[in-house]
Formats: sequence, structure tokens, C-alpha cells
Amino acid sequence: TELANKMAIKVPILIKKMISLGITASIDQVLDKSTVKLIAITTGHKVIVRKENQLEESIIHDRNTSSNNILKIRPPVVTIMGHVNHGKTSLLDCIRSTKIASKECGGITQHIGAYHVKIKDNVITFLDTPGHAAFTSMRLRGAKITDIIILVVAIDDGVKPQTIEAIQHSKAANVPIIVAINKIDKLEEGNLNQIKNELSKYDLLSEEWGGENIFVNVSAKKNIGIKNLLDAILLQSEILELKVKANGMAKGIVIESYLNKGKGPIATVLVKEGILNQGDIVVCGIEYGKIRNMRDEDGNTIFTASPSIPVEIIGLSGIPIAGDYFTVVKNEKKAREVALYRQSKFREIKLSRKKRLNLENLFDNINKSDDTQLKLILKVDMQGSLEAISESLYKISTPQVKINIINVGVGSITETDASLAAASNAIILGFNVRADYSAKKVIESENVDLRYYSIIYNLLDDIKLAIDGLLIPKN
Ligand code: GDP
Repeated sequence: TELANKMAIKVPILIKKMISLGITASIDQVLDKSTVKLIAITTGHKVIVRKENQLEESIIHDRNTSSNNILKIRPPVVTIMGHVNHGKTSLLDCIRSTKIASKECGGITQHIGAYHVKIKDNVITFLDTPGHAAFTSMRLRGAKITDIIILVVAIDDGVKPQTIEAIQHSKAANVPIIVAINKIDKLEEGNLNQIKNELSKYDLLSEEWGGENIFVNVSAKKNIGIKNLLDAILLQSEILELKVKANGMAKGIVIESYLNKGKGPIATVLVKEGILNQGDIVVCGIEYGKIRNMRDEDGNTIFTASPSIPVEIIGLSGIPIAGDYFTVVKNEKKAREVALYRQSKFREIKLSRKKRLNLENLFDNINKSDDTQLKLILKVDMQGSLEAISESLYKISTPQVKINIINVGVGSITETDASLAAASNAIILGFNVRADYSAKKVIESENVDLRYYSIIYNLLDDIKLAIDGLLIPKN
């Protein structure tokens, strides 16, 4: 419809024209650039290419003209991490029960992915999806939502693999850690100093040990030390000076979403800045809509939400993904336009990812194109294996497929390797080395083919088979 309007012709005529060009499309379908160009040219229209992100820019323009900024301190957003069974869920429940003024811990009410707790004049927001998956999936999508991590360590179990993983996540995301030594009621079964000692190996040091991390002893079961923990969070948050724009059109992040049979898509969002109002029109990832209803974590209808306050919103066109950003825009037409544009972009990206080269589809690609190069990035553990493998790889080259090692090195696979592979359609081979965290992020999002080997023979064999089109897919 939009294209027909722009070309000043009737929709059915345009569709007819498209059919004659072999393009089938529905009325509100978003067309890609080359299709539009083809139609325009064949109908004698001139093509003026708009700047790619003009739509997105117009949103920013709207926002900037909306109001004068009022800066205010917003509540901190906290995520609880730690090893399994160390008491993350119990601690969350315990903190939540301080909210419902119960002396006992437990007794969960509604789950919307986050809740906030009032402590005198202060507020703390907790993401109530314990564990690391939610945190990493947000990070993978480039969303930074957590201000403070509570690292739970059970005194009777000490530092464990997921404790270390949590520390690594927080470091990579540059989020400060408060250490909560839990199950302090079992003090006789553990050794506080030993835990502190182990944590110090990961640069987590309490103030009395000359460090900057706040340590709090708690018992989620016996409700001991919870107030100290909350005070510690407020102290840490003061240090962080979390000032944001507290007026004007809101923007924020989706933390959870699902489909409700009666109400349609429901998303829990956290406002990052501005004020979100019922009736606002939002673009949310590739979805959009007018907020018909907003509810707080207790299920009460609310009409406004300020920064860091979790709310459920109803009225979106589809289910957004955790980590998606939402932005309030001025009118529904613009929201729809941006969402549809993003959807078409999204499809393009998905398509191009599918097409990315991997060892299994190498052979098909060779047959189809003149590009007879197999580009490789090789990372190994020792200089010696580097030479041995590169030499053997070059020997496998055939007249049909020339092997081109575009980068080699000793050490783990880094983000640079991953980006290089994505940009040049190369395959990464890791020999006795692994990809680091930021590399994995790129590899996953860009769908790069990464393979690990520890035996040279297996590595060479896979490449040989791939060249011959005989490699059986991994999964
Ligand atoms: P999560 O896997 O980290 O979420 O751990 P949970 O919260 O599910 O707790 C694991 C187990 O430890 C449960 O059986 C809890 O009852 C117990 N637990 C949690 N906190 C404490 C505590 O402070 N003291 C004691 N003794 N047990 C606790």
C-alpha cells in the first residue's frame, strides 16, 4: 500500500504489475530494497534511496524534542547469582517476603520476572530469575540491565564452578559484586576465612581485606542478615550514582514475555528512563502497540511507571524477546512503520545467517559459485602445532577448493577472530584452545562455524571430507 501511494497508482494495479514481474506479495507486505527498485524502474519511476536508519533517527528526534530533562536517582536493579543450591531462590523469596511484611521467608506471590522492595525512602528492584541464563541472554543481546550482582556463596559448600562463572560474567559486564555468604546458620560446617581466601583469587576482597567488595553474612532460611544485605545494596547503589532522565517519553528493556490466551502478548519491562504511561505507543524490538493496560508485580493496574520499576504491559502486536529495547513514540503510524521495517531487516539478517558458510555446506557452495576458497582461522595452543597443522592444511588444497588460512595464532579464540571470521565468511578451527566469552557471543550471533579439535588427524580429516562434500552435519 505504501509503495502504491508513493508511486500514485492503485494497489491492485501494483500487485498485478508485481505478478507480471514474478513477485507475489500481499497488501501490507514489507518489500526489500531490490524488489522495490525493480518495480519502480520497470514502471518508469525514479528511485531515491532514503538513508537506511532514517526511521530510527526520527524516533530519536521525537524524543529529543519532547521535553527538558529532569535528572533523578533511580533505584538499582539487582540480579542474584551463584552456584546451584547455594540459596539464590531462598534469598529472593526471603527478600520478597520483607515486602509483604511477613516475618517468615517463602510464600511467593506472582511471578513477573522482577519485583521491587521499598526500604524507608529507597527502592531496590530485583530480577527474580535466578541463575545465569537470563543474565547472559540479556548480555548477548547487548542489553545492560543489572546494576549490582549479589553473589551467593553457601558457607558449607564454598566457591564452586558456577560461583566462578558468575564472577566472570560480572567482570565481563563490568557490574559490581556484593558477596552474600549464605547459610550462616551452618557456620560450624564452614570456614569463612577459607571462602574469603578463595574469592580473593578472583579479586573479590572485602574492605577489611583491603578490597572494595561488600561482604554480608546471611541466612535465607533463618532470615538473618537480610536487612544488612539490603543496606549494602543501597550503599553500593549510592556509589554508582544511578542518575537518569526521569521525565518525558520512556524507554527501557523487556525482561520477560509470554502469550496470554485471553489478553495476547504480555511483556514485563523495566523503564530505563522517562515515564511510561498507559496509552503510550511503543516500539518494542520488532513489535509495536499501544499500551492498553499496565500492571505492577502484585497484579494491580497502574497508570504510570518510573525508571527501574518493573511493569507488565499489554497491547503489543507480538511477543518481544527478553533483552529487547522498547521506546515510546509519538504516533501509531510511526510505530508500525518502524516495527515493520525492523521485521524486514530481521528476516534479511536471518536469511543471510542461514546462508553463511560452514563446513557441511561448503561443497554445495563450491558447486554453485566460482569462489573456490575455503577460508580458515586457526588458533592453537603451541607454536609447534601451528606450523604442523598449517602445512598439512595447505597440502589438502585441491584444484576445486583452495585452502586459505587468513589468520593463525597461538592462544584462545578471541572476539577479533570471531568478527574476522564473520566478516570474511571463514571457519574457525580451535586446536586445544577454546573461544573466550566475548568471542562466543559473536560466534553465536553471527552464526560462525567454529570447530574444536585435540587430534590433528581429526581436524585434517574433517577438512578433507568437507572439501569432498562428505562431511556429515554435527547435529
Ligand atoms: P538455589 O539453587 O541457589 O536457588 O538454592 P535454593 O534457594 O533452592 O536453596 C537450596 C537449598 O538450600 C534449599 O534446600 C534451601 O532450603 C537451603 N537453604 C537456602 N538458604 C539456606 C540457609 O540460609 N540456611 C540453610 N541451612 N539452608 C538454606
